Amino acid sequence: MAEIKVIVAGPRGKMGREALRMIKDDTSFELVGCIDRTNDGRRVAEIEGLPQFDAKIYTSAETALSELEADVLIDLTTPEHGYKHTKLALEHNVRPVVGTTGFTDEQMQEITDLAEEKEVGVVIAPNFAVGAVLMMQFSKWAAKHFSDVEIIEKHHDQKLDAPSGTAVKTAQLIKEVRDSHKQGHSDEKETLEGARGADVDGMRIHSMRLPGLVAHQEVVFGGLGQTLTIKHDSHNRESFMSGVKLAAEKVMELDRLVYGLEHLLD
Ligand code: NAP
Repeated sequence: MAEIKVIVAGPRGKMGREALRMIKDDTSFELVGCIDRTNDGRRVAEIEGLPQFDAKIYTSAETALSELEADVLIDLTTPEHGYKHTKLALEHNVRPVVGTTGFTDEQMQEITDLAEEKEVGVVIAPNFAVGAVLMMQFSKWAAKHFSDVEIIEKHHDQKLDAPSGTAVKTAQLIKEVRDSHKQGHSDEKETLEGARGADVDGMRIHSMRLPGLVAHQEVVFGGLGQTLTIKHDSHNRESFMSGVKLAAEKVMELDRLVYGLEHLLD
């Protein structure tokens, strides 16, 4: 198979660095360029701590996508810029693989429509760790039998969006099978605002942010005389890379948006 030509947006970030390492170790990919907020015109290898790539860095996503011959854009930046990069990539017929989380429903709809119009594949996955995808699938299964559930997500304190994309996605999957109802006592009152977390269709999501954490989630179901906890931990960012690799390969065969890694797993 020919090498997949990749642009990485956010190469100095924690995820971006890991993606560069993955590309370096995998002969099925070729890094053709990076989109960064700084270092315009420099080579990746010149940046301290980044792998030895000759690929050029662009601060303008528009210029990168116009000048470079690329198949895939891997975006690991911020919600604001990730959204812009994704739209620009689609306009240039480059397939986005988006790990960046925090897009609004309206932004997701715009991306869905643009991908359909251009017939260009996109993969957006709030969690590229295969174990986390399984946690979400198991949770959806469990929700058929336990309709009371709370989600506790824990991340490092540099994360910009809350709740996490994974928690939102888990709640959406559970919502598909759970009888919609408000949980807890009907007269429940918060004496401190936010104490009960975010409300999604009557279920609660709690977000914890602490140094030392990476990405962790517990989905706790309660029933008469029993609880069931489904838990996943990403101990480091390497845990996301097999999913990024799979998405970058599969996106080549797609002509629309796929949201969630689970749709790409057998
Ligand atoms: P991070 O370490 O803060 O990295 C973000 C990087 O994006 C930084 O290097 C930042 O540059 C760069 N950036 C900001 N604006 C940019 C722009 N306009 N052009 C190019 N680069 C830009 O964060 P992270 O932990 O790597 O996470 C990145 C994203 O991935 C977040 O949205 C996070 O929620 C998400 N994430 C997803 C998964 C998944 O499995 N889907 C897993 C973990 C994280 P500066 O250093 O100059 O600010």
